[in-house]
Amino acid sequence: MDRTQLLNKLWEYQHEFGYISKNAISKISKSLQVSNIEIESVISFYHFFHKQPTGKNIIYLNNNIISELKGFEDIKTTFEKETGCNFNEQGNDEFSLFETSCIGLNDQEPAALINFLPFTDLTPKKVKLIIQKIKNGENLKDFASKTKSKIQYTPKEDKTVLFRPYVMGKSIKEGLKYSSQEVIDKITKSKLLGLGGAFFPAGYKWQSCKNNVDDIKYIICNADEGEPGTFKDRAILQHVPGLLYEGMILAGYATGAKEGIIYLRAEYLYLLPELEKLLEEFYSKNLLGKNILGVEGYDFDIRYQIGAGSYVCGAASALIESMEGRRGEPPVRMWSATKHGFKHKPTVVNNVETLAYASRIIELGEDFFLSLGTEESPGTKLISISGDVAKPGIYEIEYGTSFKELLGIEMSQATAPYFLQVSGPSGDCINSSEFDRKICKEDLLCGGALMVFNRNRDILQIFRNFMEFFKEESCGVCTPCRAGNFILTEKVKKIQRGLCSQEDLDDIKQWGKIIKLSSRCGLGKTSPNSLMMAIDKFPDYFNIKIAPSNEDQHVEFDMENAIHEFDSIIKDTQL
Ligand code: SF4
Repeated sequence: MDRTQLLNKLWEYQHEFGYISKNAISKISKSLQVSNIEIESVISFYHFFHKQPTGKNIIYLNNNIISELKGFEDIKTTFEKETGCNFNEQGNDEFSLFETSCIGLNDQEPAALINFLPFTDLTPKKVKLIIQKIKNGENLKDFASKTKSKIQYTPKEDKTVLFRPYVMGKSIKEGLKYSSQEVIDKITKSKLLGLGGAFFPAGYKWQSCKNNVDDIKYIICNADEGEPGTFKDRAILQHVPGLLYEGMILAGYATGAKEGIIYLRAEYLYLLPELEKLLEEFYSKNLLGKNILGVEGYDFDIRYQIGAGSYVCGAASALIESMEGRRGEPPVRMWSATKHGFKHKPTVVNNVETLAYASRIIELGEDFFLSLGTEESPGTKLISISGDVAKPGIYEIEYGTSFKELLGIEMSQATAPYFLQVSGPSGDCINSSEFDRKICKEDLLCGGALMVFNRNRDILQIFRNFMEFFKEESCGVCTPCRAGNFILTEKVKKIQRGLCSQEDLDDIKQWGKIIKLSSRCGLGKTSPNSLMMAIDKFPDYFNIKIAPSNEDQHVEFDMENAIHEFDSIIKDTQL
């Protein structure tokens, strides 16, 4: 057994005992030949591993902005009152309560995970009932929520790509009519982009992996969508998971990889039984395993690796670190994964949506895909919409669709939209003068999340939530990201308190530039984006915040408290 088993070992103890004791750490240390101190440092990195005993029922309440706007505080207070414990403390024998970032249920907020089962659309009344049932000894599985998101929209006239009826094995059978190189050529010709947020052309990645000759190669599916507001991959996993498996199998055929691993975020653990059942069906129909569909030497296996709660692990390099049993910190030296990936072997890392589209492109043909969307962005795209809309949920749209259309009566039916956050907190914000902009490479790409806020929402409340999120999720290895996101959070709080001057807004832009330029990974490089943009795009709003009357009120910035908070963050991030 090697170190790549570390996360699985930790999960065994976490699930059985609710925490990972010193004794457990010693046992794991012996079996994997990893030092105790290293194991402790790994445990401390992930939100869902605990070193202190917890109650029998661990509750994680989502604190992202949509939850906050839909009643998070009331729900939090009710949980505390009903369980007799406070959030983010050890709890009692029965319960432990923790806040957590987005759990991929933005269309059903406020939402929580209780022992990793979902409970959605929470109200204080519902929380009381849930806790009562738990105290009565009822089985959580019997009253957990159904989470399958509604597919609110697909293109008409048979232009739907993903959410058309699925026939098991169809794309694999179609792919086998071609050579491995022809399969890659089809994906390249289709211009399919990586849809996890980086938008790197999928065909180039497959080609690069194929070109790196090695007996062992891997296909890794990144099913760790952690960008707040994103739940499109969950929709694929719940509606058409077979497309994901077939995309991986085809990627294996094309590149020569024989093993596929799906890194599934622990927030989606409740999906695993159904997904594994389907996996068995694939094996029983010889769509997985040895000599797939009778083709000699065409072998491919798929297994799951469960993450443990870390936003930064959504980045491919950090995800590989995590799979290798380390803290999910992006490494200093970035190799291309297609050359030196998992276990230093050529590896393709694609996200769920990319692989599902790859499967459909082979099944339907690249010409069909190219006939949809725009010149540079052919095909369709999934968007998860949440916030101030009448119809939150999943939208499969043709590339080139405008935000105005997305917000309109035919689609999400937004109510007085004012501020849109595109691609989650690390993406772009846009104002009403930009609603004609289109989702496509020629204009603005969207990673898959669209959060809609109406005129009554406070922009600073939104940014305080975003910046707290980045402060919490920064892995801490580089100072500009660790300290910079802290400073930006304090600046936002200062503006909220009405103590802001033009100098503070200039500071935010200066700090933002420093963080973006000098951070190691995507988190730091993108975290200040939206706040910096908002200052320019919502001048009326920010001008009110720096009105002369505010400048007259001279109240000192609470530096002592800020330093104290900063120190505690540093302690938390130390090994
Ligand atoms: Fe960690 Fe932030 Fe540096 Fe990324 S930018 S490596 S999250 S400290």
